[in-house]
Amino acid sequence: MAHRPYTPWQRKIKFQMEAAKAAAYWTRYRSLHRKLHDGPRKARAARVVRTHCKRGHAFTEESSYINADGARVCRICRRSNEAKRRARD
Ligand SMILES: [Zn+2]
Repeated sequence: MAHRPYTPWQRKIKFQMEAAKAAAYWTRYRSLHRKLHDGPRKARAARVVRTHCKRGHAFTEESSYINADGARVCRICRRSNEAKRRARD
């Protein structure tokens, strides 16, 4: 019988210990990753589902549009902002 460094059950236990270590590492990595990235991701998601602008106008297809920055812009607010700017000039 050829010499083996470990008996099969020893190899199995060693393998299981390595697997547990790897699992613990990835669990830790994932939780850290989530902690770092979930804040901005949730904030972005909240912005996407927002239904009203900061002044309370409802966002609909006609009353809003997506600007170059990817932000939803309220046409009513934009119009009043433009009127204000025109009045100032
Ligand atoms: Zn508005």
